[in-house]
Amino acid sequence: MKAPIEILKNVFGYPSFRDSQEKIVNTVISGESCLVIMPTGGGKSLCFQIPAIAIDGLAIVFSPLIALMQDQVETLCQAGVKAAYWNSTLNLDEVRDIEKRVAFNDLDLLYVAPERINTSSFQSLISKAKISLIAIDEAHCMAQWGHDFRPDYLNLSEIRNKLPHVPLIALTATADSDTRKEIQQRLQLEKSPLFLSGFDRPNIEYRIQVKQNAKSQLLNFIEKEYPNSTGIVYCLSRKKVEATASFLQGHGIKALPYHAGLAADIREKNQRLFLQDNSIVMVATIAFGMGIDKPDVRYVAHMDLPKSIEAYYQETGRAGRDGLPSTAWMIYSLADVVMMRQMIESGSNLSFQSIEKQKLNSLLALAETSECRRKVLLKYFGDELSENCNNCDTCHTPVTQFDATLEAQKVLSAVSRTGQRFGSGHLIDLLMGKETDKIVSNGHQYLPTYGVGKDRNKNQWNSIIRQLVSLGFLNISAEGFGSLTLAENSGGVLNGKNKVFLRQDVFQSKKETSFRLSSKEKSNVFDSDNTRELFEKLKETRMSLAKTQKVPPYVIFHDSTLRELAHCKPKSLAEMEDVSGIGKSKLKKYGSTFLKIISN
Ligand code: ADP
Ligand code: ZN
Repeated sequence: MKAPIEILKNVFGYPSFRDSQEKIVNTVISGESCLVIMPTGGGKSLCFQIPAIAIDGLAIVFSPLIALMQDQVETLCQAGVKAAYWNSTLNLDEVRDIEKRVAFNDLDLLYVAPERINTSSFQSLISKAKISLIAIDEAHCMAQWGHDFRPDYLNLSEIRNKLPHVPLIALTATADSDTRKEIQQRLQLEKSPLFLSGFDRPNIEYRIQVKQNAKSQLLNFIEKEYPNSTGIVYCLSRKKVEATASFLQGHGIKALPYHAGLAADIREKNQRLFLQDNSIVMVATIAFGMGIDKPDVRYVAHMDLPKSIEAYYQETGRAGRDGLPSTAWMIYSLADVVMMRQMIESGSNLSFQSIEKQKLNSLLALAETSECRRKVLLKYFGDELSENCNNCDTCHTPVTQFDATLEAQKVLSAVSRTGQRFGSGHLIDLLMGKETDKIVSNGHQYLPTYGVGKDRNKNQWNSIIRQLVSLGFLNISAEGFGSLTLAENSGGVLNGKNKVFLRQDVFQSKKETSFRLSSKEKSNVFDSDNTRELFEKLKETRMSLAKTQKVPPYVIFHDSTLRELAHCKPKSLAEMEDVSGIGKSKLKKYGSTFLKIISN
């Protein structure tokens, strides 16, 4: 058997294992099953790919998305690994070919879509194969309470029963302990080792802002900080996806829409373009993203609140797999919170509703925190960060808090005196002493709270009310359209026993960007113009190679590999082999082409 470290060097071109990779690889090779929880970009794939190459026989890899299997298999083939995929897109000849290769033990890895498991063709295939290991990627898809549940994944429990002596490795980036327990139970991994890595993604900068003029805030962010970069913009609805994509297109940004309402061929095409190009902004619902391992996504922007911190972490985690600086950007408003609550409350299962509400509240607490965001985020997953991260908005622009007890009393009293039947818009009109039809028709101009909030503007009242909701002083009523009601602990504030401290929001956007580096500065600085030019040349070469082979450029080399080539300027193939990401197979395929460019 080949030693894992030799496979890492020769096949993948990396000099050393990261953190727990080696232990995991050795566990699997020794025949033991395990569960691996590692953040996105942590290097999960090698944990099963290296054992698959090392052990004799065929490794079956279950992976949720057909479209993406192809890229993963392509990446492996480029590195000289015997890999293939088995899904509904294969034609009869391709099926026969794989069957033959399996029969002759000529494949190390076979990627399979879980919905294939119960087909007779797959059953007969594995009955003939010598199976070395089973890998289950995105294993959280089998957790019914998780956020990405896929019924087909339940079939994997059967595979486990059928092949009890084959080592099984389940992998996911999803962190919460309920999901983890469900995976362990379904795959009988309770007594097997659990490899739990820290959840921190230090290269991702976290930023959460108040929504004011959503589209122009987004445009401003993209134009100022990430022009011509790959990004993902998440919206809650299909309609909003379309509107946002065409708004960005109208401003000269290469944006594409993606949602479940688009025809399959359009979705497929947009996804391909996104993977192949490196300046496309995908505007999408959460239907897009799982399994996307494009390494150079520079930012993930949320135009609406995700459902939970888990979802936020998972979605933002698609940025910066290559380890280069990236941004998780989100805007939100009270209206979003109201809408999310209503969506939750329209669900039928009451216990589910209460879990979902708690999850939403944790996310709101993250959004409204005055602490380092990374600290709050990691704490949610049970990780402690001893110092502030200095790579989030609250670290960059510390938030000042103010004693908002009086303001809180004004709001709570307005809610109480109007019978807990109105939403924030009307309450703000009341506080600011506006004479709207609604105020007059309800006689609200005679209330003692009428006009007591003239010293603050609408934005400030919005912020105060939003924070009172997220801190649990106000509830959003289940019946009315966003009506606010008094929560239990509002009594202590109204009678002056408890004080309330709120964050002083930064309302003007001027300050936000002043401390930012431009995206050019963010990406690694080049030591000379010469090096930068060489890097651009290498990218062009990579692009033309990718086009001829019809594969995404990063399948050939990652940006980070080209960057290193441009810096070290190797003079021979032997020198080139020391560059991270160049294994024997790629050296043979591309070494001389790139060497020529470098020597020129
Ligand atoms: P995950 O599946 O955990 O999100 P991947 O397996 O896609 O992450 O790995 C993320 C990136 O890190 C990939 O580009 C991969 O090639 C790279 N990588 C993984 N392990 C190593 C290593 N030991 N040394 C250098 N790069 C690595
Ligand atoms: Zn921070």
